[in-house]
Amino acid sequence: MIKLYISLFFLMLLSAPAFGSDRQILEMSCEGELVQGGFVICSLPKTTFGNYQIKYGNDKTTGISAAHPALIPFSRNSALHVELTVIGNSSDQQQIKPVSLQLGKGTWAIERIDGLPPGKVTPRTLEQQRKVEADWIKKQAAWKHRANASWYANGFSKPVAKSRISGVYGSQRILNGQPKNPHLGYDFAAPKGTIIHAPANAMVVLADPDMYFEGGLLILDHGDGVMSVMLHLSRLDVKAGDKVNQGEAIGAVGATGRATGPHLHWGIKVRGTYINPKLLLDYQVK
Ligand SMILES: [Zn+2]
Repeated sequence: MIKLYISLFFLMLLSAPAFGSDRQILEMSCEGELVQGGFVICSLPKTTFGNYQIKYGNDKTTGISAAHPALIPFSRNSALHVELTVIGNSSDQQQIKPVSLQLGKGTWAIERIDGLPPGKVTPRTLEQQRKVEADWIKKQAAWKHRANASWYANGFSKPVAKSRISGVYGSQRILNGQPKNPHLGYDFAAPKGTIIHAPANAMVVLADPDMYFEGGLLILDHGDGVMSVMLHLSRLDVKAGDKVNQGEAIGAVGATGRATGPHLHWGIKVRGTYINPKLLLDYQVK
């Protein structure tokens, strides 16, 4: 018994430097748009070594290191208090302090759209239903993509230069009198054929000219699963696997799928959470 106590004592002595006061506490800095539908881009001090995971929301995580920042999304209905915890390797000599954020409440419009063909509001035939399901499977595979990059940290530019904003993020939509899910994109009305530019560097994850609801669709990964989704395109100029640079022409505006007129619907989905694309455009990279 005494022997066991002695060995325990020495074990504690040996482990003390690694787990005790020698551990360096570092601060993570997070900047962005602190509002529902917004985001922060978090970075670690240059003296941080190793890779960490930021835990946020309902058990979501994403990687972060000194060289690689992380974009953390806030959903339209996000809690106003957000806690970010950083998990590292237990043997790390460094520890990152958690960050508490307080968000502002979002304000949302009500949009009524009438005169949509009934079949596009509620799928009718078995054939249409099968098409919707096949499209869903394609999209699910695309959403799982994670480009090992942080291109999103260099800022975003407007995908359609000359256009009129015809829909904003967060609106409660009422289609043909039926309340539907809120609109989680940003709409740019422009004539059919108007060029669409990549809003930031990206990897093309899905390029499909004929989705049931979306029509011509592009999904781009701007790094770590920060994705642009673009709908209703009349023409796609890229294919899955292509690497595109900010500003590059990637397709053209159209009215394919569930659209009443030619426009680009631009959504930003971050690992399952849609954020407000306008806030990304407004955000000034320091
Ligand atoms: Zn839209």
